[in-house]
Amino acid sequence: LTFSELGLSSWLVNSLKAMSITSPSEIQTKCIPEILKGRDVIGGAKTGSGKTAAFALPILQKLSEDPFGVFAIVLTPTRELAYQIAEQFRVLGKSVGLKDVVIVGGMDMLPQAIALSKRPHVIIATPGRLHDHINSSKDAMHLSRVKFLVLDEADRLLTETFAEDLGGILGALPQKRQTLLFTATMTDEVLELANPESSQGESASK
Ligand code: AMP
Repeated sequence: LTFSELGLSSWLVNSLKAMSITSPSEIQTKCIPEILKGRDVIGGAKTGSGKTAAFALPILQKLSEDPFGVFAIVLTPTRELAYQIAEQFRVLGKSVGLKDVVIVGGMDMLPQAIALSKRPHVIIATPGRLHDHINSSKDAMHLSRVKFLVLDEADRLLTETFAEDLGGILGALPQKRQTLLFTATMTDEVLELANPESSQGESASK
């Protein structure tokens, strides 16, 4: 299969070509058509599998069709991962003028708050710092039209360490949105968030 056959527009296929990426990886083949159809997905994928592009490409395609306000929030457990994800969004989204912001701990709050108030299309964040901003100025963040929530390394995010911050962030987002989970291992917590009605662990093998 080609990226076009997965449903991606030619401008994205061309961005990929410029990066010498011509054929989709397994996780991309599985996830991109589902995300474009509007479905939630849960992808089992490690770093190096092409998982970032698996969510960035369909998000950028949908964003290009309706570029209004804060469109997607990507949560990841570490600063380094946040910067790596942002870099891929920037490269792929360059031709549509993507505005992104990285919100991580260890940086001044004020420049981040200013960047957030300018309605970036994509916010890439670690949970603690994003929750701090929501607590101090939720209304200034314009989160009411968020269409996508991505949990990168969901198995690491859905632990006690991040529970309170994740709860605060989820509470500030619209209920009607697509949720995309990427995880190296399927933990009970990941399955529970992906499918809250099913009993825990029931389908742990898939
Ligand atoms: P990730 O798994 O998201 O950390 O991606 C690892 C690296 O693979 C990144 O540098 C991507 O640019 C690259 N990459 C993503 N998709 C593909 C693909 N289909 N073919 C070759 N390289 C890719």
